[in-house]
Amino acid sequence: MSADCIFCKIVQGDIPSKNIYEDDDVIAFHDIHPITKVHFLIVPKQHVESLASCSSQHQTLLGKMLLLAPELAKQQGLVGFRTMINTGREGGQEVFHIHMHVFGGGDTLPRT
Ligand code: 5GP
Ligand code: ZN
Repeated sequence: MSADCIFCKIVQGDIPSKNIYEDDDVIAFHDIHPITKVHFLIVPKQHVESLASCSSQHQTLLGKMLLLAPELAKQQGLVGFRTMINTGREGGQEVFHIHMHVFGGGDTLPRT
């Protein structure tokens, strides 16, 4: 856990979140500023800064996050969806605790 990390605080229950899934390794909750009708984040409980700081030891965790996306998207009523992992400031990352965005619903998403 990292003391100043907003997602660590969510994992610990210190900041409220609208959770849609939780197990020993990951938590998923609705994004506070959704960009589409449905927009949630899949977040490992372990504090890992970004995709760029992952190594082979994170392979199982990353696979789990990826496989959870279609399962949770379906539960949320999505037929199609987009996944996004912003990495580093230049990649648009604002919260430095790795997370995967899953979003969709409504109109077809633009190409970019
Ligand atoms: P990033 O730009 O790092 O990929 O995305 C961070 C995301 O976390 C943003 O979409 C932002 O809306 C979301 N977010 C930031 N703080 C909170 C929070 O306290 N609760 C929830 N549910 N989402 C948050
Ligand atoms: Zn964290």
